Amino acid sequence: MSQNAVESVESFRARARTWLSEHMPRLDDRTQPESPDPDDDSHEWKRARELQQLLYQGGFAGICFPREYGGLGLTEAHQKAFTEESDGYEMPLLLNVPSFAICGATLLDMGGEDQKRDRVGAAIRGEEVMCQLLSEPSGGSDLAGLITRAERDGDEWILNGAKTWSTSAYAADWGLCLARTNWDVPKHQGLTMFLVPLKTPGLTLNRVRMVNGSREFCEEFFDDVRLPASSVVGLVDDGWTVASRQLFHERNAVGGGSPYVSGSGNLRATPHPSPFEVARASGRAADPRVRELVGEYLALKTVHEQTVGRVSAAMAAETLPPAGSSLLRLLHAEYMHLMDDHAVRIAGAGIATGIGSEPGVTGWTATGFLMRQGVSLGGGSTEIARNIISERLLSMPREPAPDRGVPFNQVKRVSG
Ligand SMILES: Cc1cc2nc3c(=O)[nH]c(=O)nc-3n(C[C@H](O)[C@H](O)[C@H](O)COP(=O)(O)OP(=O)(O)OC[C@H]3O[C@@H](n4cnc5c(N)ncnc54)[C@H](O)[C@@H]3O)c2cc1C
Repeated sequence: MSQNAVESVESFRARARTWLSEHMPRLDDRTQPESPDPDDDSHEWKRARELQQLLYQGGFAGICFPREYGGLGLTEAHQKAFTEESDGYEMPLLLNVPSFAICGATLLDMGGEDQKRDRVGAAIRGEEVMCQLLSEPSGGSDLAGLITRAERDGDEWILNGAKTWSTSAYAADWGLCLARTNWDVPKHQGLTMFLVPLKTPGLTLNRVRMVNGSREFCEEFFDDVRLPASSVVGLVDDGWTVASRQLFHERNAVGGGSPYVSGSGNLRATPHPSPFEVARASGRAADPRVRELVGEYLALKTVHEQTVGRVSAAMAAETLPPAGSSLLRLLHAEYMHLMDDHAVRIAGAGIATGIGSEPGVTGWTATGFLMRQGVSLGGGSTEIARNIISERLLSMPREPAPDRGVPFNQVKRVSG
Protein backbone atom coordinates (compact mmCIF):
# COMPACT_ATOMS: atom_id res chain seq x y z
CA MET A 1 0.00 0.00 0.00
CA SER A 2 1.31 3.50 -0.84
CA GLN A 3 2.15 5.85 2.03
CA ASN A 4 -0.78 8.11 1.18
CA ALA A 5 -3.54 5.49 0.72
CA VAL A 6 -5.67 5.18 3.85
CA GLU A 7 -6.04 1.59 4.95
CA SER A 8 -9.65 0.54 5.50
CA VAL A 9 -10.77 0.11 9.09
CA GLU A 10 -11.50 -3.58 8.52
CA SER A 11 -8.07 -4.28 7.03
CA PHE A 12 -6.45 -2.35 9.91
CA ARG A 13 -8.54 -4.28 12.43
CA ALA A 14 -7.50 -7.63 10.93
CA ARG A 15 -3.83 -6.64 10.89
CA ALA A 16 -4.10 -5.40 14.50
CA ARG A 17 -5.74 -8.65 15.61
CA THR A 18 -2.91 -10.73 14.16
CA TRP A 19 -0.18 -8.46 15.49
CA LEU A 20 -1.68 -8.28 18.97
CA SER A 21 -1.95 -12.06 19.21
CA GLU A 22 1.67 -12.47 18.13
CA HIS A 23 3.31 -9.64 20.08
CA MET A 24 1.26 -8.23 22.95
CA PRO A 25 1.23 -10.06 26.30
CA ARG A 26 -2.20 -11.35 27.30
CA LEU A 27 -3.63 -9.96 30.54
CA ASP A 28 -4.07 -13.48 31.93
CA ASP A 29 -0.35 -14.17 31.54
CA ARG A 30 0.69 -11.00 33.31
CA THR A 31 3.11 -11.52 36.13
CA GLN A 32 3.34 -8.42 38.29
CA PRO A 33 6.87 -7.98 39.59
CA GLU A 34 6.69 -7.91 43.36
CA SER A 35 7.84 -4.61 44.82
CA PRO A 36 9.26 -4.60 48.34
CA ASP A 37 7.64 -1.16 48.81
CA PRO A 38 3.84 -1.07 48.24
CA ASP A 39 4.14 2.69 47.54
CA ASP A 40 6.58 2.09 44.74
CA ASP A 41 4.69 1.74 41.45
CA SER A 42 7.73 2.51 39.30
CA HIS A 43 7.49 -0.99 37.78
CA GLU A 44 3.99 -0.11 36.44
CA TRP A 45 5.36 2.99 34.71
CA LYS A 46 8.37 1.12 33.38
CA ARG A 47 6.02 -1.53 32.06
CA ALA A 48 3.75 1.10 30.44
CA ARG A 49 6.74 2.62 28.63
CA GLU A 50 7.88 -0.84 27.47
CA LEU A 51 4.40 -1.66 26.14
CA GLN A 52 4.24 1.69 24.34
CA GLN A 53 7.63 0.97 22.75
CA LEU A 54 6.27 -2.40 21.64
CA LEU A 55 3.25 -0.72 20.04
CA TYR A 56 5.54 1.79 18.33
CA GLN A 57 7.82 -0.91 16.94
CA GLY A 58 4.79 -2.82 15.71
CA GLY A 59 3.37 0.26 13.95
CA PHE A 60 0.32 0.65 16.20
CA ALA A 61 1.26 3.67 18.35
CA GLY A 62 -0.31 7.14 18.14
CA ILE A 63 -3.09 5.96 15.84
CA CYS A 64 -4.81 9.37 15.56
CA PHE A 65 -1.63 11.46 15.86
CA PRO A 66 -0.23 12.82 12.54
CA ARG A 67 2.48 10.87 10.77
CA GLU A 68 4.96 13.77 10.86
CA TYR A 69 5.06 13.52 14.67
CA GLY A 70 5.40 9.76 14.83
CA GLY A 71 1.74 8.72 14.71
CA LEU A 72 -0.25 6.89 12.08
CA GLY A 73 -2.53 9.75 10.98
CA LEU A 74 -5.58 7.47 10.99
CA THR A 75 -9.18 8.10 12.04
CA GLU A 76 -11.13 7.64 15.26
CA ALA A 77 -12.76 4.60 13.67
CA HIS A 78 -9.30 2.98 13.29
CA GLN A 79 -8.53 3.80 16.93
CA LYS A 80 -11.86 2.37 18.07
CA ALA A 81 -11.21 -0.85 16.12
CA PHE A 82 -7.75 -1.19 17.68
CA THR A 83 -9.11 -0.57 21.17
CA GLU A 84 -11.75 -3.27 20.64
CA GLU A 85 -9.14 -5.74 19.41
CA SER A 86 -6.76 -4.92 22.30
CA ASP A 87 -9.31 -6.09 24.88
CA GLY A 88 -7.70 -8.92 26.84
CA TYR A 89 -4.14 -7.72 26.17
CA GLU A 90 -1.82 -5.67 28.35
CA MET A 91 -1.89 -2.06 27.17
CA PRO A 92 0.00 1.04 28.38
CA LEU A 93 -3.22 2.53 29.81
CA LEU A 94 -1.30 4.69 32.29
CA LEU A 95 -0.04 6.80 29.39
CA ASN A 96 -3.48 7.64 28.01
CA VAL A 97 -4.56 10.39 30.43
CA PRO A 98 -3.15 12.97 30.84
CA SER A 99 -0.04 12.31 28.73
CA PHE A 100 -1.54 11.49 25.31
CA ALA A 101 -5.18 12.56 25.48
CA ILE A 102 -4.62 15.93 27.17
CA CYS A 103 -0.99 17.06 26.91
CA GLY A 104 -0.13 15.47 23.55
CA ALA A 105 -3.43 16.62 22.05
CA THR A 106 -2.90 20.19 23.33
CA LEU A 107 0.64 20.37 21.95
CA LEU A 108 -0.65 19.09 18.64
CA ASP A 109 -3.16 21.97 18.46
CA MET A 110 -1.13 24.75 20.05
CA GLY A 111 2.57 23.78 20.21
CA GLY A 112 5.43 24.88 17.96
CA GLU A 113 6.89 22.49 15.37
CA ASP A 114 9.84 21.57 17.63
CA GLN A 115 7.52 20.87 20.58
CA LYS A 116 5.29 18.66 18.47
CA ARG A 117 8.17 16.78 16.88
CA ASP A 118 10.21 16.36 20.06
CA ARG A 119 7.67 15.94 22.87
CA VAL A 120 4.75 14.31 21.04
CA GLY A 121 7.19 12.13 19.09
CA ALA A 122 8.99 10.98 22.26
CA ALA A 123 5.66 10.20 23.97
CA ILE A 124 4.50 8.09 21.04
CA ARG A 125 7.82 6.20 21.06
CA GLY A 126 7.27 5.43 24.77
CA GLU A 127 10.29 7.49 25.82
CA GLU A 128 8.56 10.35 27.66
CA VAL A 129 5.47 11.08 29.73
CA MET A 130 3.70 14.42 30.19
CA CYS A 131 1.46 15.82 32.93
CA GLN A 132 -0.64 18.90 33.69
CA LEU A 133 0.48 21.64 36.07
CA LEU A 134 -2.63 23.83 36.28
CA SER A 135 -4.33 23.78 39.73
CA GLU A 136 -2.84 25.74 42.59
CA PRO A 137 -3.25 25.55 46.38
CA SER A 138 -5.42 28.70 46.26
CA GLY A 139 -8.01 26.98 44.02
CA GLY A 140 -8.49 25.18 40.74
CA SER A 141 -11.90 26.18 39.38
CA ASP A 142 -10.84 29.80 38.91
CA LEU A 143 -7.90 28.69 36.81
CA ALA A 144 -7.42 32.13 35.24
CA GLY A 145 -6.93 33.55 38.75
CA LEU A 146 -3.70 31.60 39.32
CA ILE A 147 -0.70 33.29 40.92
CA THR A 148 2.33 31.22 39.91
CA ARG A 149 4.49 33.77 38.12
CA ALA A 150 7.03 33.67 35.29
CA GLU A 151 9.31 36.67 34.76
CA ARG A 152 11.48 37.29 31.76
CA ASP A 153 15.23 37.46 32.33
CA GLY A 154 17.02 38.03 29.02
CA ASP A 155 16.34 34.97 26.87
CA GLU A 156 15.04 32.99 29.82
CA TRP A 157 12.01 32.86 32.09
CA ILE A 158 12.14 32.48 35.86
CA LEU A 159 9.28 30.54 37.37
CA ASN A 160 8.11 30.89 41.00
CA GLY A 161 5.03 29.51 42.73
CA ALA A 162 3.26 26.25 43.50
CA LYS A 163 0.98 23.75 41.78
CA THR A 164 -1.05 20.90 43.23
CA TRP A 165 -3.20 17.84 42.37
CA SER A 166 -0.94 17.06 39.43
CA THR A 167 -1.86 13.52 38.45
CA SER A 168 1.18 11.27 37.88
CA ALA A 169 3.66 14.17 37.86
CA TYR A 170 6.18 12.00 39.76
CA ALA A 171 6.31 9.66 36.77
CA ALA A 172 6.38 12.40 34.13
CA ASP A 173 9.22 14.06 32.25
CA TRP A 174 7.42 17.26 31.22
CA GLY A 175 4.49 19.30 32.51
CA LEU A 176 2.26 21.86 30.81
CA CYS A 177 2.41 24.69 33.33
CA LEU A 178 0.24 27.82 33.20
CA ALA A 179 1.81 30.88 34.83
CA ARG A 180 1.10 34.60 35.12
CA THR A 181 3.41 36.73 32.99
CA ASN A 182 1.54 40.03 33.07
CA TRP A 183 -0.20 41.41 36.20
CA ASP A 184 -1.32 44.70 34.65
CA VAL A 185 -4.10 43.24 32.50
CA PRO A 186 -7.34 41.35 33.29
CA LYS A 187 -6.72 37.82 34.53
CA HIS A 188 -7.26 35.88 31.28
CA GLN A 189 -4.93 38.17 29.31
CA GLY A 190 -1.75 37.84 31.37
CA LEU A 191 -1.10 34.10 31.29
CA THR A 192 1.47 32.04 29.40
CA MET A 193 1.73 28.25 29.01
CA PHE A 194 5.16 26.68 29.50
CA LEU A 195 6.54 23.21 28.90
CA VAL A 196 8.49 22.53 32.08
CA PRO A 197 10.94 19.65 32.60
CA LEU A 198 9.97 17.90 35.86
CA LYS A 199 13.57 17.20 36.78
CA THR A 200 15.17 20.61 36.84
CA PRO A 201 16.97 22.71 39.48
CA GLY A 202 14.58 24.70 41.71
CA LEU A 203 11.62 22.33 41.25
CA THR A 204 10.61 20.35 44.35
CA LEU A 205 8.00 17.65 43.87
CA ASN A 206 6.15 15.89 46.70
CA ARG A 207 3.72 13.03 46.38
CA VAL A 208 0.41 13.41 48.23
CA ARG A 209 -1.21 10.43 49.94
CA MET A 210 -4.96 10.20 49.39
CA VAL A 211 -7.64 8.65 51.56
CA ASN A 212 -7.60 5.43 49.51
CA GLY A 213 -3.85 5.07 50.06
CA SER A 214 -2.90 6.10 46.51
CA ARG A 215 -0.01 8.52 46.00
CA GLU A 216 -0.79 9.39 42.41
CA PHE A 217 -1.22 13.14 43.08
CA CYS A 218 1.72 15.51 43.46
CA GLU A 219 2.42 19.05 44.52
CA GLU A 220 5.26 21.07 43.03
CA PHE A 221 7.12 24.12 44.29
CA PHE A 222 9.03 26.32 41.85
CA ASP A 223 11.90 28.35 43.29
CA ASP A 224 13.59 30.39 40.56
CA VAL A 225 13.21 27.61 37.98
CA ARG A 226 14.93 28.79 34.80
CA LEU A 227 13.26 28.01 31.49
CA PRO A 228 14.51 28.76 27.98
CA ALA A 229 12.39 30.94 25.67
CA SER A 230 11.57 27.79 23.69
CA SER A 231 9.52 26.56 26.66
CA VAL A 232 6.62 28.86 25.78
CA VAL A 233 3.67 27.03 24.21
CA GLY A 234 1.73 29.34 21.90
CA LEU A 235 2.26 33.04 22.47
CA VAL A 236 3.43 34.98 25.52
CA ASP A 237 0.39 36.35 27.44
CA ASP A 238 -1.91 34.21 25.30
CA GLY A 239 -1.76 31.18 27.59
CA TRP A 240 -5.53 31.25 28.10
CA THR A 241 -6.02 30.24 24.46
CA VAL A 242 -3.73 27.25 25.05
CA ALA A 243 -5.34 26.45 28.41
CA SER A 244 -8.84 26.59 26.89
CA ARG A 245 -7.81 24.02 24.33
CA GLN A 246 -6.21 21.94 27.08
CA LEU A 247 -9.42 22.07 29.15
CA PHE A 248 -11.39 20.99 26.08
CA HIS A 249 -9.13 17.96 25.67
CA GLU A 250 -9.32 17.29 29.41
CA ARG A 251 -13.14 17.28 29.47
CA ASN A 252 -13.18 15.15 26.35
CA ALA A 253 -10.67 12.68 27.83
CA VAL A 254 -12.39 12.51 31.21
CA GLY A 255 -15.78 12.21 29.49
CA GLY A 256 -14.59 9.28 27.36
CA GLY A 257 -14.58 11.07 23.99
CA SER A 258 -10.87 11.43 23.22
CA PRO A 259 -9.54 9.87 19.99
CA TYR A 260 -6.05 9.77 21.54
CA VAL A 261 -6.89 7.09 24.12
CA SER A 262 -5.76 3.61 23.10
CA GLY A 263 -7.08 0.53 24.87
CA SER A 264 -9.77 0.37 27.53
CA GLY A 265 -10.17 -0.81 31.08
CA ASN A 266 -8.91 0.28 34.45
CA LEU A 267 -6.32 3.02 34.22
CA ARG A 268 -4.58 1.76 37.32
CA ALA A 269 -3.76 -1.76 38.39
CA THR A 270 -6.33 -1.23 41.18
CA PRO A 271 -9.63 -2.80 40.07
CA HIS A 272 -12.81 -0.72 40.17
CA PRO A 273 -15.63 -3.26 40.10
CA SER A 274 -18.98 -2.44 38.51
CA PRO A 275 -22.38 -3.28 40.11
CA PHE A 276 -22.61 -6.16 37.61
CA GLU A 277 -19.31 -7.65 38.81
CA VAL A 278 -20.19 -7.07 42.48
CA ALA A 279 -23.60 -8.75 42.04
CA ARG A 280 -21.92 -11.84 40.63
CA ALA A 281 -19.02 -11.90 43.09
CA SER A 282 -21.25 -11.38 46.14
CA GLY A 283 -23.65 -14.17 45.17
CA ARG A 284 -26.60 -11.73 45.15
CA ALA A 285 -27.32 -11.73 41.42
CA ALA A 286 -30.71 -13.45 41.86
CA ASP A 287 -32.07 -10.84 44.31
CA PRO A 288 -34.74 -8.77 42.45
CA ARG A 289 -33.58 -5.50 44.07
CA VAL A 290 -29.99 -6.21 43.04
CA ARG A 291 -31.14 -6.98 39.48
CA GLU A 292 -32.94 -3.63 39.43
CA LEU A 293 -29.76 -1.79 40.48
CA VAL A 294 -27.66 -3.66 37.91
CA GLY A 295 -30.28 -2.86 35.26
CA GLU A 296 -30.17 0.84 36.12
CA TYR A 297 -26.37 0.77 35.90
CA LEU A 298 -26.37 -1.03 32.53
CA ALA A 299 -28.98 1.40 31.15
CA LEU A 300 -26.91 4.45 32.14
CA LYS A 301 -23.77 2.74 30.79
CA THR A 302 -25.47 2.41 27.40
CA VAL A 303 -26.73 6.01 27.50
CA HIS A 304 -23.21 7.16 28.39
CA GLU A 305 -21.61 5.21 25.51
CA GLN A 306 -24.21 6.42 22.99
CA THR A 307 -23.88 10.03 24.19
CA VAL A 308 -20.10 9.92 23.84
CA GLY A 309 -20.50 8.79 20.21
CA ARG A 310 -23.18 11.34 19.45
CA VAL A 311 -21.55 14.38 21.11
CA SER A 312 -18.07 13.51 19.73
CA ALA A 313 -19.49 13.22 16.20
CA ALA A 314 -21.35 16.53 16.58
CA MET A 315 -18.20 18.32 17.81
CA ALA A 316 -16.15 16.80 14.96
CA ALA A 317 -18.80 18.00 12.47
CA GLU A 318 -18.81 21.40 14.24
CA THR A 319 -22.59 21.27 14.75
CA LEU A 320 -21.79 21.46 18.46
CA PRO A 321 -19.11 23.86 19.80
CA PRO A 322 -16.09 22.51 21.77
CA ALA A 323 -18.03 23.37 24.96
CA GLY A 324 -20.00 20.21 24.16
CA SER A 325 -17.16 18.30 25.87
CA SER A 326 -18.68 19.53 29.18
CA LEU A 327 -21.73 17.37 28.46
CA LEU A 328 -19.46 14.32 28.33
CA ARG A 329 -17.52 15.41 31.40
CA LEU A 330 -20.77 15.84 33.40
CA LEU A 331 -22.41 12.62 32.26
CA HIS A 332 -19.24 10.67 33.02
CA ALA A 333 -19.34 11.86 36.64
CA GLU A 334 -23.06 10.99 36.92
CA TYR A 335 -22.35 7.55 35.48
CA MET A 336 -19.39 6.90 37.79
CA HIS A 337 -21.35 8.09 40.84
CA LEU A 338 -24.20 5.74 40.05
CA MET A 339 -21.74 2.91 39.42
CA ASP A 340 -19.99 3.43 42.78
CA ASP A 341 -23.23 3.98 44.73
CA HIS A 342 -24.96 0.90 43.32
CA ALA A 343 -21.85 -1.26 43.77
CA VAL A 344 -21.79 -0.29 47.44
CA ARG A 345 -25.57 -0.90 47.82
CA ILE A 346 -25.16 -4.38 46.36
CA ALA A 347 -22.07 -5.28 48.37
CA GLY A 348 -23.70 -3.98 51.58
CA ALA A 349 -21.65 -4.66 54.67
CA GLY A 350 -19.48 -6.88 52.46
CA ILE A 351 -17.48 -3.84 51.40
CA ALA A 352 -15.93 -3.93 54.86
CA THR A 353 -15.83 -7.67 55.49
CA GLY A 354 -15.66 -9.23 52.02
CA ILE A 355 -18.42 -11.64 50.99
CA GLY A 356 -19.31 -14.18 48.33
CA SER A 357 -17.09 -16.21 46.06
CA GLU A 358 -14.68 -13.32 45.43
CA PRO A 359 -14.26 -11.29 48.62
CA GLY A 360 -11.54 -9.25 46.90
CA VAL A 361 -14.09 -7.78 44.48
CA THR A 362 -16.32 -6.43 47.25
CA GLY A 363 -13.24 -5.13 49.04
CA TRP A 364 -12.19 -3.21 45.94
CA THR A 365 -15.67 -1.69 45.88
CA ALA A 366 -14.79 0.12 49.11
CA THR A 367 -11.54 1.45 47.69
CA GLY A 368 -13.34 2.62 44.53
CA PHE A 369 -16.00 4.37 46.64
CA LEU A 370 -13.37 6.40 48.47
CA MET A 371 -12.55 8.09 45.14
CA ARG A 372 -16.23 8.80 44.36
CA GLN A 373 -16.01 12.55 44.94
CA GLY A 374 -12.78 12.85 42.98
CA VAL A 375 -14.74 12.00 39.84
CA SER A 376 -16.74 15.23 40.14
CA LEU A 377 -13.57 17.35 40.56
CA GLY A 378 -10.84 15.87 38.34
CA GLY A 379 -11.13 17.26 34.83
CA GLY A 380 -12.77 20.41 36.17
CA SER A 381 -15.67 20.20 38.62
CA THR A 382 -19.19 19.19 37.62
CA GLU A 383 -20.49 22.56 38.88
CA ILE A 384 -18.18 24.33 36.43
CA ALA A 385 -19.31 21.90 33.68
CA ARG A 386 -22.92 22.88 34.45
CA ASN A 387 -21.97 26.59 34.27
CA ILE A 388 -20.34 26.04 30.86
CA ILE A 389 -23.33 24.11 29.53
CA SER A 390 -25.75 26.81 30.69
CA GLU A 391 -23.69 29.74 29.40
CA ARG A 392 -22.10 28.41 26.22
CA LEU A 393 -24.55 25.77 25.01
CA LEU A 394 -27.88 27.07 26.32
CA SER A 395 -27.02 30.81 26.08
CA MET A 396 -28.17 31.48 29.62
CA PRO A 397 -26.84 34.63 31.36
CA ARG A 398 -23.18 34.62 32.43
CA GLU A 399 -22.24 34.12 36.03
CA PRO A 400 -21.44 37.51 37.71
CA ALA A 401 -17.67 38.03 38.04
CA PRO A 402 -16.42 41.05 40.03
CA ASP A 403 -12.92 40.65 38.51
CA ARG A 404 -14.08 40.73 34.88
CA GLY A 405 -12.13 43.38 32.97
CA VAL A 406 -10.16 44.43 36.07
CA PRO A 407 -6.32 44.42 35.87
CA PHE A 408 -5.20 41.39 37.89
CA ASN A 409 -2.99 43.45 40.23
CA GLN A 410 -6.12 45.38 41.30
CA VAL A 411 -8.24 42.29 42.00
CA LYS A 412 -8.84 41.64 45.71
CA ARG A 413 -7.29 38.31 46.68
CA VAL A 414 -7.17 36.40 49.94
CA SER A 415 -3.44 35.69 49.54
CA GLY A 416 -0.58 36.20 47.13
C1 LIG B 1 -8.86 12.86 40.19
C2 LIG B 1 -8.33 14.25 40.02
C3 LIG B 1 -7.30 14.49 39.14
C4 LIG B 1 -6.77 15.78 38.99
N1 LIG B 1 -5.70 15.96 38.16
C5 LIG B 1 -5.17 17.20 38.03
C6 LIG B 1 -3.99 17.41 37.23
O1 LIG B 1 -3.43 16.47 36.67
N2 LIG B 1 -3.48 18.66 37.13
C7 LIG B 1 -4.07 19.73 37.76
O2 LIG B 1 -3.58 20.84 37.59
N3 LIG B 1 -5.18 19.57 38.55
C8 LIG B 1 -5.72 18.32 38.71
N4 LIG B 1 -6.81 18.14 39.52
C9 LIG B 1 -7.39 19.28 40.22
C10 LIG B 1 -8.75 19.68 39.62
O3 LIG B 1 -8.56 20.31 38.38
C11 LIG B 1 -9.42 20.59 40.65
O4 LIG B 1 -9.74 19.78 41.77
C12 LIG B 1 -10.68 21.24 40.10
O5 LIG B 1 -10.40 22.14 39.07
C13 LIG B 1 -11.42 22.01 41.23
O6 LIG B 1 -10.53 22.87 41.87
P1 LIG B 1 -10.36 22.84 43.46
O7 LIG B 1 -10.19 21.41 43.89
O8 LIG B 1 -9.30 23.80 43.82
O9 LIG B 1 -11.77 23.30 44.00
P2 LIG B 1 -12.29 24.80 44.09
O10 LIG B 1 -12.04 25.51 42.82
O11 LIG B 1 -11.77 25.41 45.35
O12 LIG B 1 -13.85 24.55 44.22
C14 LIG B 1 -14.44 24.02 45.43
C15 LIG B 1 -15.91 23.72 45.14
O13 LIG B 1 -16.57 24.95 44.76
C16 LIG B 1 -17.22 24.78 43.50
N5 LIG B 1 -17.10 26.01 42.71
C17 LIG B 1 -16.00 26.77 42.53
N6 LIG B 1 -16.26 27.78 41.70
C18 LIG B 1 -17.56 27.67 41.33
C19 LIG B 1 -18.42 28.42 40.48
N7 LIG B 1 -17.98 29.49 39.82
N8 LIG B 1 -19.71 27.99 40.32
C20 LIG B 1 -20.17 26.89 40.97
N9 LIG B 1 -19.39 26.14 41.81
C21 LIG B 1 -18.11 26.53 41.98
C22 LIG B 1 -16.44 23.67 42.82
O14 LIG B 1 -17.24 23.04 41.84
C23 LIG B 1 -16.11 22.75 43.97
O15 LIG B 1 -17.19 21.89 44.25
C24 LIG B 1 -7.31 16.85 39.72
C25 LIG B 1 -8.36 16.61 40.63
C26 LIG B 1 -8.85 15.33 40.82
C27 LIG B 1 -9.95 15.11 41.83
